[in-house]
Amino acid sequence: MSQLTNVEKDVLLEVKNLKTYYPIKGGFFRKNIGAVKAVDDISFEIKKGETLGLVGESGCGKSTAGRTILRLLDPTDGQIIFEGKDITNLRGTSLRKIRQDFQMVFQDPYASLNPVMMVGDLVSEPIRNYTNKSTKELKNEVMELLTKVGLPEDAYYKYPHEFSGGQRQRIGIARALALRPKLIIADEPVSALDVSVQSQVLNLLKELQNEFDLTFLFIAHDLSVVKHMSDRIGVMYLGGLVEVAGKDSIYSEPLHPYTQALISAIPEPDPRKKKDRIILEGDVPSPINPPSGCTFHPRCRHAMPECQQEKPSLKEVKPGHRVACHLYK
Ligand code: SF4
Repeated sequence: MSQLTNVEKDVLLEVKNLKTYYPIKGGFFRKNIGAVKAVDDISFEIKKGETLGLVGESGCGKSTAGRTILRLLDPTDGQIIFEGKDITNLRGTSLRKIRQDFQMVFQDPYASLNPVMMVGDLVSEPIRNYTNKSTKELKNEVMELLTKVGLPEDAYYKYPHEFSGGQRQRIGIARALALRPKLIIADEPVSALDVSVQSQVLNLLKELQNEFDLTFLFIAHDLSVVKHMSDRIGVMYLGGLVEVAGKDSIYSEPLHPYTQALISAIPEPDPRKKKDRIILEGDVPSPINPPSGCTFHPRCRHAMPECQQEKPSLKEVKPGHRVACHLYK
């Protein structure tokens, strides 16, 4: 068995050159005539106990990346390494076994919960599927989980429609925690909720992270939400990662022109402070036929001739700060 270094031991998840393409079929014989390059060659790692935020406009591939890592989608290429083990091509029993260790919290807590099941059954279902615990043990465990996520014990006997959006998301979180996973991928977990309850659910996730020793991949389009939750942040544009850095570094000194535009659009809480907003021209191009070179070049105010020809790779330009842009050669 290979010897792992201390740094490698700290890494829970490593994603290497991951690609997820959706084939486009056409013609009489329904042949492959192209592909939607939803995730196009991304690499990053998450350390144990860390939260990595993944941000970008809708359609940038962040949710597809999350689903591919959880192996809900098959990757087209690349590697997913979990606790030092390559899980990219696991199938059957081996995949089922490893799935206990990672769970997802979905955006829409109502659509992700079976409306005809009682909350007690919804939360205990994963435990029942993976263990032989007695009915009494199961019930005690679910009651404890409901309390941990801030729901009353009588929630056990109720149905999802009897709860508010925030409470339903708490049920989804209890279900995700049921198997005591190591990694949680939270895909826009508060974007469907009222602003007033968003911070309650975010704070709950943070508390649970400490208590259950969780590692998070936190996917969201709202930079303020991601800032609140994350230790490091990865910015995605058109299927690729354009910048990865610690939270403070990325907010105080964004290097990629796309990140600069996103951060300039965060509303300033103090109306007396003036902020220069960078307006991005044009729409996000199609991931079926992305622009050549740097995919951001048609919208970039710093674009140079080489940007159309050569794709910049994600390189470390300062300790812990990586960016994919020809400005930082
Ligand atoms: Fe802009 Fe060129 Fe940097 Fe792309 S590589 S972000 S086009 S300056």
